[in-house]
Amino acid sequence: MPDISLVNIKDLSIRKLMKSHFSPALLAEIKTELDKGKQIILFQNRRGFAPIIECNPCSWVPHCVNCDVAPHLHKRADLLRCHYCGYSTQNPSRCNNCGDTDLRQRGFGTEKLKMSCRFFPDKKIARLDLDATRAKHAYRQIIESFENHETHILVGTQMITKGLDFGNVSLVGILNADSLINFPDFRSFERSFQLMLQVSGRAGRKGEQGKVIIQTYDTEQMVLKYLIQNDYRGFYAEEIQERKRFQYPPFYRLIEITLKHRDERLIENAATAFAKELKKSFGSRVLGPTSPYVSKVKNMFIKSILVKTEKQLPFQKAKHLMVQSIEKFRLDTEFKNVIIICDVDPF
Ligand SMILES: [Zn+2]
Ligand SMILES: [Zn+2]
Repeated sequence: MPDISLVNIKDLSIRKLMKSHFSPALLAEIKTELDKGKQIILFQNRRGFAPIIECNPCSWVPHCVNCDVAPHLHKRADLLRCHYCGYSTQNPSRCNNCGDTDLRQRGFGTEKLKMSCRFFPDKKIARLDLDATRAKHAYRQIIESFENHETHILVGTQMITKGLDFGNVSLVGILNADSLINFPDFRSFERSFQLMLQVSGRAGRKGEQGKVIIQTYDTEQMVLKYLIQNDYRGFYAEEIQERKRFQYPPFYRLIEITLKHRDERLIENAATAFAKELKKSFGSRVLGPTSPYVSKVKNMFIKSILVKTEKQLPFQKAKHLMVQSIEKFRLDTEFKNVIIICDVDPF
């Protein structure tokens, strides 16, 4: 395993010591390795130039017309594009709310990261993500040019973690670990641990120990603690306890119920009524309704309800009770057009 070290970018940001998205430590290591003729992988699990645009004076953020999300900026086309429905619109030149022209980018994606590599003007930099590989053969060309050492730095999303084996890569930089770890999903620790371990594995092959630098706003996080020690067992032991304590898989079975309707008020009432109906059969195993992370997609408003059932509970019985609850809920004609989707073990 490579040598993994953490860099606290919170502290560096406060002291204004960050150079674009790079800590001085990461920049110095990149330079050292490039001078040795080595190659570098930079990992940022987000596409595009910057995730979103925000008005600096009033904090207005443009939204997709169909979904409850801020579309991502794609710099080259100068478009804002929604990653949920594909809607795209011109990047606005002024704020819709206050009219100010001081619109700024918040966060960053692979496209922006690639541009930030201007610190190495004589090096060739390539990007590997969904956008960069749309064209026929693009994926293979990017990989081949990196394999042949024509490209020096490869900037990419999780696409770079999959089954690639580059002999000359000595350094991997993970630009922002927090966006992975803090994703709102009970499996985000497991996923981020796995993903960062995979990316780290790209550094140092053929008998040489590679280096990994992970930038984070919080170096004390449990995931990072085990990652730098390459301690999968330790991570597993702690994570599995949390899963048990908070009744998550593999100890419990999850049924995620999604309700959708075009009418925001109606979906509110429908979700409350359906949760009440479910509680008659499932009692305290019913959680919600809640508004999911993205609460409107393609003009449909969304509510979710989670049912956690014990693994021992016969699944046929649970299914039967679920169908019964749906039938009773449908008796109210107001709710007859509500879309209900039941997803068992959704994650
Ligand atoms: Zn959309
Ligand atoms: Zn504004």
